[in-house]
Amino acid sequence: MQLFPPAISFGHLTLDTPMPSQSSSISSTSSGYPISGDELIAEWRTQGGVDSEDPLMNMFEFARRKLYIRDGCVPSRRASIDSSSVTSSVPDVIRQVAEELKKEKSETVSSFIREWIDVSDDPHGVIFDTASSGGVGSTSPISSSSMPRSSLSGITPMKDTMMLESLTRWETDFLALSSSELLGRSIKIFDLWGFFGGTVSDSSSSGIDLPQALPVIKSREKFGSFLKQISKNYKSTNPYHNFHHAHSVLAIVANLIRNCVPDFYSPLEEFGILVAAVCHDVGHRGLNSDFYIKTRHELAIQYNDISVLENMHCSLSFEILLRSGVTADWSEEEYTIFRKFFIQSVLATDMKQHFELTGKLGDMVLAGGVPAIPELVSPEDKRIIYCSIVHAADLANPTMPTKACYNWAVRVVDEMYAQGKLEEKSGFTVAPFMRHPPTDTVEFAKLQLSFLGFIVSPLWKAMAAIWPNALDDRIRQLEKNNKFWENLRDQNVDREQLNN
Ligand SMILES: [Zn+2]
Repeated sequence: MQLFPPAISFGHLTLDTPMPSQSSSISSTSSGYPISGDELIAEWRTQGGVDSEDPLMNMFEFARRKLYIRDGCVPSRRASIDSSSVTSSVPDVIRQVAEELKKEKSETVSSFIREWIDVSDDPHGVIFDTASSGGVGSTSPISSSSMPRSSLSGITPMKDTMMLESLTRWETDFLALSSSELLGRSIKIFDLWGFFGGTVSDSSSSGIDLPQALPVIKSREKFGSFLKQISKNYKSTNPYHNFHHAHSVLAIVANLIRNCVPDFYSPLEEFGILVAAVCHDVGHRGLNSDFYIKTRHELAIQYNDISVLENMHCSLSFEILLRSGVTADWSEEEYTIFRKFFIQSVLATDMKQHFELTGKLGDMVLAGGVPAIPELVSPEDKRIIYCSIVHAADLANPTMPTKACYNWAVRVVDEMYAQGKLEEKSGFTVAPFMRHPPTDTVEFAKLQLSFLGFIVSPLWKAMAAIWPNALDDRIRQLEKNNKFWENLRDQNVDREQLNN
């Protein structure tokens, strides 16, 4: 006679079915699920977990699912995630792109995508060798700090929440705003987030023990002048890499943190990610890293050809930051945490990290998604998540309304074309994708289609598979924009689509 039910296979959907309490001694919440550790263990035993192959992992998974249910979250993300369009693992993502590229006839498209893959490094040895399985590069984990997670979402007044929502809307036409309006909006985002005002001791004086709590910045004025300096160091004559782009990335990162991972990071960590977002292209001259490398520019020499631009953006940002005195009263630990999050976020905007981030997000999708409870997410996964958020925000133009998507794309191609002209004048070989202005409509549309298909779509689809409620709309918009580029390529454009 079987005394206990057989061990549960946690990969099955049956977990979504409420399990009846196995013992009258187990107290339950109103939804019928045990809540304390002892109760969890008691129920786990009755479910046969102790006899499973790996009792520790079994226990962990059991608790994780119970907590999901208790907290009203989706009980089993495995059941709800649409992973059909997500490719997992870094070598797989690169291999898939390499195979698609082999079919690609256009030299322009091919050169464009290869530029982003970084053929010279080929870190996984799979770009041209499709038989090789390659290896997943490991990245040293960054501590997400011992600071408790943010309680911002819980204490932000409703009117601030609504204003933050309006400042970070996907529909905002950032290109229609002036630089000073954008600067004002940037400061407002930090303000509404709750970073300014009192101090840690102010919080303590209220009798509430909030050692991790707000704010991060004592002087709003110092921070305001820091941001102003940052905005001035964006070159307004750059068609694309200007403060409009910087602000757009800040607004989108803020949106993604609030809607996807509101409780994953401490205020200081969130501050590091958000400041990085607005600084991530500061000092950009409208030329890509390869230009500095091939012209043997002092920046390339200084950074040994590695993430030349991104290293420069970090370095210039900290120069301005330290001069501003914003961090002068921080402890060494606070400064170190902020600096780590800032640098990791900015370095994640180097396209050479794209396939690694996309592959690792794909792995998370296939592993069942990201637990809604931050304590159950590993520090390395937390790092992948915030780096992906900043990177995805940097590549978010194709997820914007079609008119904005089109206008941003014109600017990107204008800037690349200008670099091509400069290279031509200086006697350098010009990459095929830099030889066509946006007025060359068919080439322009083809380039955008390849950018969406090879680069943006796999990344955003992985993100949307993890956070469908927050991001499904973006995928729909991306598909709409894809249709628009197809029509443009086929010279069958419906201009009305630019208003969607
Ligand atoms: Zn950027």
